[in-house]
Formats: sequence, C-alpha cells, structure tokens
Amino acid sequence: MSDRELYCDTCEGVQPFEVPPCVDGHDRDCPELICTGCGAAVLIATFAFPAPRLADRRRLATSRSGRRAA
Ligand SMILES: [Zn+2]
Ligand SMILES: [Zn+2]
Repeated sequence: MSDRELYCDTCEGVQPFEVPPCVDGHDRDCPELICTGCGAAVLIATFAFPAPRLADRRRLATSRSGRRAA
C-alpha cells in the first residue's frame, strides 16, 4: 500500500506515485513521491502544515458589545 494517485504535471494526468527509497530514514513517511509514469519526484508536505486557520477567525466577534441604550 505504498502508492498514491496524484496529479503529475509532466504526465498531464493522474498517475500512481510511490515512495522512493529514502536515505533519510523516513521510510513510508517520506514526504517525497516518485511518479511511476515519468519518474519525476514531487514533494508532498501536507502533513507538515497544521493549518492554524480557525484560531484567527474569532477575534473579530469579541468586540461586539451587547449594550442596548435606547
Ligand atoms: Zn525521506
Ligand atoms: Zn509523471
């Protein structure tokens, strides 16, 4: 289960990619993948980004005062 299908720019289509033999000891966690169609290496680093989007969102909502003076 080491291959994944990704879009390859060189092949201009979705190709099965596989993890190359990693010299850094990442084994199957290596962020590098090789296109089995053309042999191009791509870097998939999706898991390296925690994507802290939600923390930024709610700052605006706190400045609303519920005071209603008529
Ligand atoms: Zn690696
Ligand atoms: Zn390719």
